[in-house]
Amino acid sequence: MKISVKAPAKINLSLDVLHKREDNYHEVKMVMTTVDLADRINLTLRNDNVIKIDSTSGFIPNDRRNLAYQAAELLQERFHIKKGVSIHIEKNIPVAAGLAGGSSDAAATLKGLNQLWGLGLSFDELAALGAEIGSDVSFCVYGGTALATGRGEIIKHIPSPPSCWIILAKPSTGVSTAEVYRRLKLEDIVHPNVEKMVEAMHTKDYKLMCSELGNVLENVTLSLYPEVEQIKRQMEQLGADGVLMSGSGPTVFGITKYETRMRRIYNGLRGFCNQVYTVRLLGESEG
Ligand code: ATP
Repeated sequence: MKISVKAPAKINLSLDVLHKREDNYHEVKMVMTTVDLADRINLTLRNDNVIKIDSTSGFIPNDRRNLAYQAAELLQERFHIKKGVSIHIEKNIPVAAGLAGGSSDAAATLKGLNQLWGLGLSFDELAALGAEIGSDVSFCVYGGTALATGRGEIIKHIPSPPSCWIILAKPSTGVSTAEVYRRLKLEDIVHPNVEKMVEAMHTKDYKLMCSELGNVLENVTLSLYPEVEQIKRQMEQLGADGVLMSGSGPTVFGITKYETRMRRIYNGLRGFCNQVYTVRLLGESEG
C-alpha cells in the first residue's frame, strides 16, 4: 500500500517578533501563505516496524535528523503503531531557504501516515502533533493562508491573498534559522503592521499587500549575506511591486500581477542566481 502527498513551500508576507519568552522561544506574529513549489512525499507501508527514509537531495539527512522521520516516529510512539513505513522524499524546495521545506515534509508525512496507518486523526490533532516537531509544522498541516502567533503554532485561517505571480530567488548560501534568531536585536526592531497585512487579505487589496510587506529577520540576514540585498535591488529594478525575504532567508520573493513582468523578472534574475522559480499562491487552507 502506497500514498503520495504534496508538501508545498510557504512564504511569509509579514513576520514580526514580539519578545523572547521564558521558555527561550520567540513570540512571533506572522502572515504565511503556501505556494505551488512543492516536495512530494511517497509513503510505502511496511509490515515490520521500521522507518526508512531516502530522498532525491544530497542536502538533507537520511536518518532520525530528517523532520519527516521525526513525524513518523512521533506517530508510531504516541499511538503504539506496530507497522513501519518507507519514506521517499522528492525534494524540489531549496533547503535551509526560509521556505519551510523540512516543516512541510513533516506535515505531509503526518497527513499521509494518518491514512496509511488508519489513525483517523483530525487536522487540528495533526497540527498539535506537528507543533512538537517544529513551530512551522502546524501551519504546514493546513496550508493556505494564516495568521500564526505564539511560537508560530497558533493558527488562525484567513482569506488567501489577491491573485498574483510570485518570483522566488534563492542565493547560493543556506541560512540557519537558529543563528538568525540569535543575532536578532529585539531593541532595534522596526515592527511591521501585521494587522494591516491581515486586512489586505480580507479585502483582497493588492496594493496594500505590497506596501505592508515586512520581515524583522531581513536586516539580520542582509548583514550576514550582502548577496541577498543585491537580489532585492535587482527584483525592484526589474519591476516587482513588492519584494521581501521569506522567513529567516535567504530566499527573496517578488510580487507582480502581470505575466509579462513575471517573465522579465525571472529572466533578469536567472543571470546571476541559479535557483529562480515562478509560482502561484495556493489559496485556502485544508482541514
Ligand atoms: P523554516 O522556514 O521553517 O525556517 P527553512 O526553509 O529555512 O525552514 P529547511 O529547508 O526546512 O529550512 O531546512 C532546515 C534544516 O533542517 C536543514 O539544514 C536540514 O538539514 C534539516 N532538515 C531535516 N529534515 C529536512 C527535510 N525533510 N527537508 C529539508 N531540510 C530538512
